[in-house]
Amino acid sequence: MLSMNRCDTTPLLAYDDALAQLTGSVAPRAAVTEVPLLQATGRILARSIDAAIDVPGCAMSSMDGYAINTADLADAAITRLPLSQRIAAGDGVTTLKPGNAARIFTGAPLPAGADAVIMQEQVQVDAQGICFEQRPQSGQNIRPRGNDIQRGATILRQGMRLRAQDIGLAASVGLGSLPVFDAVRVGIFFTGDELVEPGEALASGKIYDSNRYTLHGLLESLGCEIVDLGLVGDTLEATRAAMLEASARADLVVTTGGVSVGEEDHVRIAIEQLGELRLWRLGIKPGKPLAYGQINETAFIGLPGNPVSVFATFCLFVSPVIQIMQGRDWHKPIALPVRADFDWPKPDSRREFLRARLVYGAQGDTRVEIFPNQDSGVLTSTVWADGFVEIAENETVRRGDSVDYLPYAQFFG
Ligand code: AMP
Ligand code: MG
Repeated sequence: MLSMNRCDTTPLLAYDDALAQLTGSVAPRAAVTEVPLLQATGRILARSIDAAIDVPGCAMSSMDGYAINTADLADAAITRLPLSQRIAAGDGVTTLKPGNAARIFTGAPLPAGADAVIMQEQVQVDAQGICFEQRPQSGQNIRPRGNDIQRGATILRQGMRLRAQDIGLAASVGLGSLPVFDAVRVGIFFTGDELVEPGEALASGKIYDSNRYTLHGLLESLGCEIVDLGLVGDTLEATRAAMLEASARADLVVTTGGVSVGEEDHVRIAIEQLGELRLWRLGIKPGKPLAYGQINETAFIGLPGNPVSVFATFCLFVSPVIQIMQGRDWHKPIALPVRADFDWPKPDSRREFLRARLVYGAQGDTRVEIFPNQDSGVLTSTVWADGFVEIAENETVRRGDSVDYLPYAQFFG
């Protein structure tokens, strides 16, 4: 009862303040593992990588054609050269015979003494050698040594989440493995006696558990290891037991439901008994109650039960916390200014995150529209949308105004 009163009188905590408190209270995990390149996609790079070699390691032809030395053509009357060599990709570096041309292929090493490649389409070949009309320029169709990467250059930054092209770049300098941070282990469970797992029959008064499935996908997309304890009934005993197990097995525990101030909201009480808890009434919509705390060394975030709020508060708060724990170079999502294709006439004292998507006009103009039903009970809105429009506290919007659009992808780095 005491807690209930405390919570009801707690002022709303602004989005920026809540985010700053949360992100300021977590630290990167230190453990580093060296993983083979083929297992490194999606992992977080644990230290910056400097190239040990030049790429390419020698000058190369970027065309199928003929390598020549432009100095041999100083006399403008010369339009043909004898052909004396053939150099294919994979051959070792050779030397161009002075006054001659060498047949050369894309990716083959330029012979010493050559300084240009004439593409084969501009050359006629006969028994005497090659003949051409256009005067070649020194350097044409050549990739100089170190054109892509110079030895010693930092090619990958610590804290980046490794994408396909990052792995390719590491391979191009000959690395067989990369140092990555260990995956963050996230323990999850879902409270509510009304919940039934999809696939089972739905008895009267029950609803299907959707949060578990949304949360799984969100955590997977961040590259987390998941410790899933499933559904937990609305008793203090069951909640405490789940909380203890999850905190013992994970770096972070995330739950949904049971953080309001009702008698069936045991998550709050369990954390108060087992560790430290801060319960916030967030000044955002959707997603009012959010619990944040600690059980021993394990961080805890209790999301509201409402599925739309779960999706939004995960994007806004849980994803930043996880990214920082992962050692990622997290930054606040960057909003795109886009013209509103809607009116939002009623100001709200809470910051609103409307489910929205871009529309592309015939004239090439981009606008953002919102799902017609912004009720926080409408999960369909999150599927229809591809991002949020963020509306500041007490603001209204008129069609044509510039608004802040946050694509979902922004929240995942
Ligand atoms: P609570 O915060 O526990 O009071 O839950 C708020 C609302 O979210 C209630 O209508 C719950 O039935 C609903 N809810 C809670 N957990 C889930 C879940 N895992 N899946 C779908 N709806 C949920
Ligand atoms: Mg509940």
